[in-house]
Amino acid sequence: MTTRRKKIYEGKAKILYEGPEPGTLIQYFKDDATAFNGEKKAQLEGKGVLNNRISEYIMTKLTGIGVQNHFIRRLSLREQLIREVEIIPLEVVCRNIAAGSLSNRFGLPEGQALPRSIIEFYFKDDKLNDPMVAEEHITAFNWANTQEIDDIMAVTLRVNDFLTGLFSAVGITLVDFKIEFGRVWENDFARVILADEISPDSCRLWDSATNEKLDKDRFRRDLGNVIESYTEVARRLGIMKDMPTVIQGGLH
Ligand code: UDP
Repeated sequence: MTTRRKKIYEGKAKILYEGPEPGTLIQYFKDDATAFNGEKKAQLEGKGVLNNRISEYIMTKLTGIGVQNHFIRRLSLREQLIREVEIIPLEVVCRNIAAGSLSNRFGLPEGQALPRSIIEFYFKDDKLNDPMVAEEHITAFNWANTQEIDDIMAVTLRVNDFLTGLFSAVGITLVDFKIEFGRVWENDFARVILADEISPDSCRLWDSATNEKLDKDRFRRDLGNVIESYTEVARRLGIMKDMPTVIQGGLH
């Protein structure tokens, strides 16, 4: 199926293949789950299918409100056609409620609302364990310029506002999320667009009524029912109608 395509890059949860035409790539969603910089690993049957669908749904909605992103169209259960971008080596994290590494760093109880949304930048480098960086590092090391950082922050806040509403409407609290950006070139002018994926692998999503976790923390913290929780997110977003077999496994 995908073997005849040229592999461009393989990451922990996704593979990028050469696309059908120049300037495109195929993003393949694996079932592999990893945490703690790859120290903890598992195969979660159906995760790739769910993340492909959830990310498609969210990116399409974002396109609808004018947030430009790399998604072009879904090709199959695990594959989507995307625009090739020059990836900016940053993980951009936006937080509304204290959790995870922010709680650990500042001794804040998980679940405490933050006084305002906070954006953080991490340098994407597994060998260095993705260290947190300041704008000073980003510009000094030429990962992005100040205009690009401004654009990234504005888009991130827009994505946060939109996703907060989208999830809130289906009884889910958006605690935090991570997004990535890439450059597309038009003549000599580079524009920054949203890339990668937006899924329960990259967001903290809590049931609004019970605070039950519906995201990758179920894997990180051995809470069980990982696929069931991702399926529940998809179901609430209304994207389960034509994918009833995912949780029964066997999809490749
Ligand atoms: N996150 C991610 N990839 C990473 C690190 C974090 O998608 O490599 C997401 C994570 O799922 C959460 C948010 O970014 O939604 C903030 O994560 P945090 O800094 O609290 O790190 P963690 O506790 O996951 O180590």
